[in-house]
Amino acid sequence: MMKKTSVLLSLVLALSFAPVHASSAAEKENNPVMRVLVLDNRDSMSLAVKGTYRIYSMPSEKLLTGGYILHTKVRASEQGIMFGARKLKFSKIRITVPEGALIYLDGRSFRGIVDIIKKDNMKLAVINRITLEEYLYGVLYNEVSHRWPIEAIKAQGIAARTFALYQARQNKLQDYDMTNDIYSQVYSGATSERWSTTRAVKLTLGKILIFKSGIFPTYYHATCGGRTEDAANLWNIDIEPLKGSECGFCKESPHYKWTKNIPLSEIEKKLSDNGYKIGKIKSVTAMARNKSGRVDKIEIRDDSDVSCVLTGKDFRRMMGPNDVRSANFEPSVNNDKLVLSGIGWGHGVGMCQWGANGMAGHGRNAEEILKIYYPGAKVTTIDKIADKL
Ligand SMILES: [Zn+2]
Repeated sequence: MMKKTSVLLSLVLALSFAPVHASSAAEKENNPVMRVLVLDNRDSMSLAVKGTYRIYSMPSEKLLTGGYILHTKVRASEQGIMFGARKLKFSKIRITVPEGALIYLDGRSFRGIVDIIKKDNMKLAVINRITLEEYLYGVLYNEVSHRWPIEAIKAQGIAARTFALYQARQNKLQDYDMTNDIYSQVYSGATSERWSTTRAVKLTLGKILIFKSGIFPTYYHATCGGRTEDAANLWNIDIEPLKGSECGFCKESPHYKWTKNIPLSEIEKKLSDNGYKIGKIKSVTAMARNKSGRVDKIEIRDDSDVSCVLTGKDFRRMMGPNDVRSANFEPSVNNDKLVLSGIGWGHGVGMCQWGANGMAGHGRNAEEILKIYYPGAKVTTIDKIADKL
């Protein structure tokens, strides 16, 4: 008589679920799979599944094992990937679960499929392969408050969907489309799904923004402080929807005004670390501002009248974007400190999230909000542009 566990295993393996969830060609085109790097450079991680699962070697997609209920520690070994005490002689494996089920990595839950990769440095990386719509479920809560009016969350959904597609197109030849942090869009899996954010994704199913028939990077930020920024002032991108617009709806934002005191010694050290030769700082002046009011050039002068000039963008990056919350500030030196009085939070390009919240509160709908922040762009659906991705 076969052991109970092996009967169960045979049953599980007989279930028909493929290495990638099956869906029609049209569905795949309109809801493409995103590849999101969710963990990187890990020595080990915990992996759990609360139902059936299968493990494949990649890229051969050969079924290695499967079962019911998994809870194990995963780490890298010389030969491949260790599952508890079990050695798998592969440097990339794929874990699949039936559609709708979750995979737990270090306690956080993820939809879709998970690829675990042993890197050359003997560390582990995890790529979550997830459909665009499911990915958005895990993004919106991190980007806006789920308590905001639904039209503001919908506007964020359309912007985030477009931005994800843009990144997927840019990174087609890379191992993954995006990371899960502020360098792309903050994504934390099914753990961060909420009723209202999921509803906003469903209500905007497949909706994206295009300009002249193609997608573009729909940047957004927390609070513009009055006027959004021209992307051309920051990056090599000069298109009408990202030229900046009047906002006037983000005054309620807790980030509307900020002040920051930075010891001059800290600035001196950072300047020196970045190759600027400057002594004891005497003055800091905003020399030029761009149309949106943000500092274009900042001059730092020392007590021997030696000075250096940085762009507002470089100064912010050097000092840390969470300390210098925006490039829209007034600098003044007070004893041994630089006092920055600023407005807004973020790079200022594209949609102002707190402004979108304010507009929705005044009865504007998602498409009206997007028209203000991305002038010249229009809302369409993925199926209308699929051939251009
Ligand atoms: Zn604003």
